[in-house]
Amino acid sequence: MQKLKKPELCRFKQRTETLQANNHKHHLHPFSDNGALAQEGARVIEKAQGVYLYDSNGNKILDGMAGLWCVNIGYGRQELVDAATQQMQQLPYYNTFFKTTHPPAVRLAEKLAEIAPEHLNHAFFTSSGSECNDTVLRMVRHYWAAKEQPDKQVIISRKNAYHGSTVAGASLGGMTPMHKQGQLPIPGIVHIQQPYWYGEGGNLPADEFGIHAARALEEQILSLGEDKVAAFIAEPIQGAGGVIIPPDTYWPEIKRILAKYDILLVMDEVICGFGRTGHWFGSNYYDLQPDFMSLAKGITSGYLPLGAVMVSDKVAEVIRTSGEFNHGFTYSGHPTAAAVALANIEILQNEGIIEKARTITGPYLQQRWSELAAHPLVGETRGAGMVAALEIISDKTSRTRFDDKGTAGTLCRDFCFNNGLVMRAVGDTMIISPPLVISGQEIDELIEKAWKSLDQTAKALL
Ligand SMILES: *Cc1c(COP(=O)(O)O)cnc(C)c1O
Repeated sequence: MQKLKKPELCRFKQRTETLQANNHKHHLHPFSDNGALAQEGARVIEKAQGVYLYDSNGNKILDGMAGLWCVNIGYGRQELVDAATQQMQQLPYYNTFFKTTHPPAVRLAEKLAEIAPEHLNHAFFTSSGSECNDTVLRMVRHYWAAKEQPDKQVIISRKNAYHGSTVAGASLGGMTPMHKQGQLPIPGIVHIQQPYWYGEGGNLPADEFGIHAARALEEQILSLGEDKVAAFIAEPIQGAGGVIIPPDTYWPEIKRILAKYDILLVMDEVICGFGRTGHWFGSNYYDLQPDFMSLAKGITSGYLPLGAVMVSDKVAEVIRTSGEFNHGFTYSGHPTAAAVALANIEILQNEGIIEKARTITGPYLQQRWSELAAHPLVGETRGAGMVAALEIISDKTSRTRFDDKGTAGTLCRDFCFNNGLVMRAVGDTMIISPPLVISGQEIDELIEKAWKSLDQTAKALL
């Protein structure tokens, strides 16, 4: 925390309180208990630079989550501001319905085809990850109907997956608290076990558990009938579910099963895309050849809302030859958002940011992060590239939790915030996903603050 003189501190505090009061009068927050938040007061973030946030009380906070997993190139890049400004002067908006297009949409589609796995050469634009998965759901079913297999309609997903918050997104996702509100999931979506070895592996070695979790897909296909199953959707690494990294055996077995039963693979790359694993896409990291990739978040580093569904040549061929696809958004291919995405991708390419994350800073982060496993509260650390998690437990050998309400995680998260670090809690799993441009020194600061917060958590719990 920065030290402030008393009158200055007073002024900051007053301003913050006014903002908070007005916020709670008129602003309903996503994924929040709005009543409790009004009591506590929302933290007001006012500016950001590099990997740091600055709040309205003058605190400097290391953003260990890159916003919501999205600010891959860090805050404050003037090139993106310039790209937006120039495009807004030239053509701030036009649609891509009704036989029209514009240069930024063309160029971005071309660029995405260049960087995506070889056979993914077609982009359908949206404004978010949720809209991508809505698009996928409709395109998958349209594809099989056009192939005269209209019964192939069921999409298999996984428990504790996150695929967004629209009706289709939340239904495809496997979050029970979300399903409880709004009568979800919608029909035609089923959820199988997740490959969460630490939490659900019991006594099985990780590799055996990986096969076991993958075979749940095969069992589900056989029980529904392969002629009913359209697609399998999954995040390469589950993000919001707690940075769940499947055992090495999992993805190869899934690949085998999907090929055997002729089922489409949808990779939800909204988090893994654009360098999170140290590779351009999670599909590169796991050597997967999906039929669809959902992209958002890191595509613009969060500077503007944009999403894209990358569609394989095989599927695109059918979509192109089966009449009108009755789907799209006012902002599909939004020129300003597309121009910003292009500038963002060029920075990732020209500065070798992903390569550096793969070869230098990512390995360093993982090495330092694994040191936290020595802390008495920590049952496991895990990670890949620039994303990592640790499990808070009360007993290391039996993997016993303090409770099932996530009390320890919430405590730790709040200590982190007060120590100037954003680290997120999913139950008692602590997760980080910092900007890819984080430096070695900043990684040291992150680890130091995490350790201190774990100490404070231990003290509060024991
Ligand atoms: C964030 C996220 C989404 C939803 O993206 P929005 O832009 O919030 O709609 C979908 N899938 C995954 C894996 C995500 O992390």
